[in-house]
Amino acid sequence: MNSASKDERKKKYIPNPDYTKIPKNGKYICACCKNYVFDRLYSYDFCPICGWQDGDVQNKYMNMRDCNHMTLAEAQEAYRQGKPVR
Ligand SMILES: [Zn+2]
Repeated sequence: MNSASKDERKKKYIPNPDYTKIPKNGKYICACCKNYVFDRLYSYDFCPICGWQDGDVQNKYMNMRDCNHMTLAEAQEAYRQGKPVR
């Protein structure tokens, strides 16, 4: 019973398969558009390309809500369709 509910909790959050903390040319990746734009890790700055706000929890999981109105999955879909990321 206990282990079943543990599995349920694990299922709740879908990890971002492209998540990385490794910078390129001194910049960190935008979890939404995957361009390297941020000066710091989890800067809480807005991506100049797609508008995603760079935050720890939302960068790691596809379906979390935190500083952005959208989840990462929703934001990536919006970006793909050329719609604004909020
Ligand atoms: Zn971006």
